Amino acid sequence: MTDITRLSAADLAAELSSGTVSSVEATRAHLDRIAAVDGDVHAFLHVSDHALDVAAEIDRRRSAGDALGPLAGVPLAIKDVLVTTDMPSTSGSRILEGYMSPFDATVVSRARAAGLVPLGKTNMDEFAMGSSTEHSAYGPTHNPWDLERIPGGSGGGSASAVAAFEAPLALGSDTGGSIRQPAHVTGTVGVKPTYGGVSRYGAIALASSLDQVGPVSRTVLDAGLLHDVIGGHDANDSTSLADAWPSFADAAREGARGDVLRGLRVGVIRELPDSGFQPGVSTAFRAALAAMEARGAEIVEISAPHFEYGVAAYYLILPAEASSNLAKFDSVRFGMRVNVPGGTVEDVMAATRDAGFGDEVKRRIILGTYALSAGYYDAYYGSAQKVRTLIQRDFASAFERVDVIATPSAPTTAFKLGEKIDDPLQMYLNDVTTIPANLAGVPGISIPAGLADEDGLPVGIQFLAPAREDARLYRVGAAVESVLVDTWGGPLLDRAPVLGGAR
Ligand code: GLN
Repeated sequence: MTDITRLSAADLAAELSSGTVSSVEATRAHLDRIAAVDGDVHAFLHVSDHALDVAAEIDRRRSAGDALGPLAGVPLAIKDVLVTTDMPSTSGSRILEGYMSPFDATVVSRARAAGLVPLGKTNMDEFAMGSSTEHSAYGPTHNPWDLERIPGGSGGGSASAVAAFEAPLALGSDTGGSIRQPAHVTGTVGVKPTYGGVSRYGAIALASSLDQVGPVSRTVLDAGLLHDVIGGHDANDSTSLADAWPSFADAAREGARGDVLRGLRVGVIRELPDSGFQPGVSTAFRAALAAMEARGAEIVEISAPHFEYGVAAYYLILPAEASSNLAKFDSVRFGMRVNVPGGTVEDVMAATRDAGFGDEVKRRIILGTYALSAGYYDAYYGSAQKVRTLIQRDFASAFERVDVIATPSAPTTAFKLGEKIDDPLQMYLNDVTTIPANLAGVPGISIPAGLADEDGLPVGIQFLAPAREDARLYRVGAAVESVLVDTWGGPLLDRAPVLGGAR
């Protein structure tokens, strides 16, 4: 029989519902895989000790004839930014070491209700600040394509878990690219939904006007299946949209078989400079566009003159919101407390925050506090919000002319661990193509586009659509995926190096 861990979530779900594989078998296979490779990859911060019990219960319900959802019995990895009642939730920070939440994030309770089996919590940059997982207080995750390289961030744990076949599906969060950039560097699929499309309740907040939870997977269909489970209105999230969403899995299926690319207008941004993009990234991106063109897509040059100011605006808005969100870690309400004998309450707070937060978190709290302080608010935060409006207008006028916008998902392939850790600006610039979608609230998907010539590492292509048009991204993503996988003669991840001898 084929190795269970190599199956897509959709194929595994089919085996589960036909009874050829049980959820206990599927869960055990993934736990074994984690045991074999995660010492090298370090995708997980915590592995569930009762996943097999959860799986056994799904098997029992299935044999009792209960009506189960399409993903029932399929294992799921959960980014540690999402709170869970049965496993610690640290958000990659020392300040929350061992923290147990009294409630589940909405996306987690929906996943449980749909019968998915939580395998564990995945590593991330502290409070989701970073592009490499090197800012995790618990050590970095390694890229399964090359263990010396970054898996992207902040959701490098979720992306690596899926790329290393430790989990068929994972949950991530994307504030400026933390689902899409890890997908790009690991050869996986990642979706940032429309702002408000997926509940943020129980997602430990980084920047509330930018944060979105979304799916991480190896195929577009799998991402759609998970999105269908987690998405939709949630009264516990005040920014949740009340829309009735179509099935994203159906959209992906339609894209994979239909003629979606014929007549599709694909916008390419004139102002995105070729310089700063690694040559192999540009080449893979253009090859993917050419494959789309050969199937009848029309490539249209569009202007988005404010796109390139996204990073600057983001690094004022994000720290401002983060500094406010992180004020709750005050040594009283959550997590760790450093005692200061004879000290005041302020001394205890200061000592706790000093010991509990890492350098990048402190850097952003200082930046954000400064940007919001009296006398500077208009000059910094106010100006950044104006740039945000200009970027939203760029998108609005572009989407009058095109159906989707395409960009490389990031400017470089996976860089070496340690390479950018001392150069925050270089780290920030890695998100130049992902950040504008968060500023504008529009959805984005990253799918594998190929391997870069110079280093043989994965490159992703990103598609962006107007707000609420997530289904369009699944149709187009699945169409492009099927064209490219045909050209390659199989999925890109089949070419990733063998890890742990277990494959
Ligand atoms: N890399 C970006 C940052 O450091 C994005 C983070 C995210 O999406 N959570 O802020």
